[in-house]
Amino acid sequence: MRRPLVAGNWKMNLDLPRGRDLIETIRSGLETLDVRERVEVAVCPPEIYLFPTAAAISGTAIRLGAQNVYHEPSGAFTGEVSAEMIAETGARYVIIGHSERRHTIGHHEDDRMIHLKVRAARRAGLTPILCVGETLDERKAGQTFDVLTFQLAAGLVGLAFKSGSDLVIAYEPVWAIGTGQNATSAQAQEAHAHLRAGLREKFGRLADEVRILYGGSVKPDNAEEIFGQPDVDGGLIGGASLKADSFLGIIRAALAKAG
Ligand code: PEP
Repeated sequence: MRRPLVAGNWKMNLDLPRGRDLIETIRSGLETLDVRERVEVAVCPPEIYLFPTAAAISGTAIRLGAQNVYHEPSGAFTGEVSAEMIAETGARYVIIGHSERRHTIGHHEDDRMIHLKVRAARRAGLTPILCVGETLDERKAGQTFDVLTFQLAAGLVGLAFKSGSDLVIAYEPVWAIGTGQNATSAQAQEAHAHLRAGLREKFGRLADEVRILYGGSVKPDNAEEIFGQPDVDGGLIGGASLKADSFLGIIRAALAKAG
């Protein structure tokens, strides 16, 4: 049984006091929900806030994640942060290959760079949350499965994992991120099943332990239906992770899945 994971990607939002307030409200909200070992919850603040966020979540079951990493361990890479540095903050997760980094920011990350980052995360003992997903044009052209196959294979080439919990995949259709237009539960399930089949081809039965999150306009009112799909193991949440009530509502939906 895969334990659902709900991870909040704060992106470049929330200053330090607001982030702390949010953690505090989530923390007290989690006390009223019977989360225990049933659902894992993580927050991914901007990198500069990793250490203070680690302090704010200390003593709670909330885990910490980073939103990006550089692949080299150290050196003359001005402005970059290595996986080892992220691990020092106490983070367990790092988001890699987010669609905003693939398609929007700066020089656009390609699959080779994304692969190097996944490798770096493993080197430092971090669990990568590898994001994959098709653009609207690719979906319209019937290329969704080909894109997912390629991004998954390219991201993970040559890598082995001892445990399925050392890897998380996030299916994030680019057209659904931050748009308010989520994939239907059927679209999510077929993409997730396709990704799991790809993982099975590569890793055999370990694939059944890997969590595949859905990301793209998840809200409390659509989370339960999406998470109810057999291959959807929780969510990577952007906008709705910035408010405690919506994030807690989504965690509630994951609890319904966990049973
Ligand atoms: C994301 O940024 O990973 C994301 C899924 O954003 P949103 O939930 O806002 O669509």
